Amino acid sequence: MPQAVAYAIDSPTGRFARTTIARREPGPTEVLFDVVYAGICHSDIHTARGEWGPVNYPLVPGHELAGIVRQVGAEVTKVAVGDHVGVGCFVDSCGECEQCQAGTEQFCTGPGGTIWTYDAIGRDGLSTAGGYSTCITVEQDYLMRIPAAIDLVKAAPLMCAGITTYSPLRRWGAGPGKRVAIIGMGGLGHMGVQIAAALGAEVAVISQTRSKEEDGRRFGASEYYALNEPGTLKSLRGSFDLMVSTVSAGSDLTRLLGCLKPGGALVDVGLPEHPVELRMGALVNGNRILAGSQIGGIAETQEMLEFCAEHGLAPQVEVIGGEDINDAYDKVVASQVRYRYVIDTSTFG
Ligand code: NAP
Ligand code: ZN
Repeated sequence: MPQAVAYAIDSPTGRFARTTIARREPGPTEVLFDVVYAGICHSDIHTARGEWGPVNYPLVPGHELAGIVRQVGAEVTKVAVGDHVGVGCFVDSCGECEQCQAGTEQFCTGPGGTIWTYDAIGRDGLSTAGGYSTCITVEQDYLMRIPAAIDLVKAAPLMCAGITTYSPLRRWGAGPGKRVAIIGMGGLGHMGVQIAAALGAEVAVISQTRSKEEDGRRFGASEYYALNEPGTLKSLRGSFDLMVSTVSAGSDLTRLLGCLKPGGALVDVGLPEHPVELRMGALVNGNRILAGSQIGGIAETQEMLEFCAEHGLAPQVEVIGGEDINDAYDKVVASQVRYRYVIDTSTFG
């Protein structure tokens, strides 16, 4: 069986340490690939620290994988040895239910449901382990092909941060003539700004401070607002057709909804640990819409990669080694990352 060197955490308050895990031999339609880079998503942190509820330890997180195919099963047609491939938040689903047929495999209603890349039980009955590891075996249908125009290191964060912002921006009509606000400019947010601008929308960033304003404008925003300046949300009342919130901790939803034009939509993708309050009047007055959005299906993720390649969009990354993961988690929580940490697995030894 192929062995992978991985970084695992063993409790909500634990620290990441190096370990070894077994991967399965690829079956006829499966692919074994070397994970070269893995992004650190804030969801990894919420999960590893038990903020969304109990998880199974030891936990190897990572759902932003980019790598190179090492071995393919006899019936694999989608990729060949040496190809650049990626994996996002899930590695399997039933393939037959209404959701899978519609290309929203992340909502699979089949017997095992969507099999998440980590902290789930795979088809083989074993726990899944994510991208903070040197290799992984995945069913070919759950792989993305990485376009040649996108560097492997920049492809990794697109597997979650890219698709999670691309999907709602497309679904809710970001484009020419639309005023779009991205709330929170971290890993997801900085991709959201670039994608919304590439779709032709007029883009505003709503951040906690002005410390990232220059970057926001470089990513394509024409307006930038800071929540720590008094009266910011009041001054933005009735301004936007669409707002996408990527905020990872607490949000003043009532006030944010007030920043929508009548009939406008606020789509939340952020998943804070604690519940958020909402005054219903903010929703009812002006026929405003509050929606959620969870990642995207395989076909849509592939479409997002082609879109990024065509428009020259890519995350701004900081490459780190395995020993830096603990420190990186603290910096992400403190909004100090610019704008995605990507782990280089060649440092695993
Ligand atoms: P991130 O890089 O930490 O970015 C989150 C941003 O939220 C920060 O950069 C900050 O923006 C803002 N923020 C943090 N604390 C805040 C507070 N107390 N008040 C106001 N704003 C605050 O995280 P990420 O990886 O982009 O993920 C963002 C969220 O989306 C997480 O909750 C994650 O679990 C979730 N997520 C959801 C999906 C999905 O499918 N829906 C997929 C991936 C991730 P500024 O620095 O600009 O203020
Ligand atoms: Zn993620």
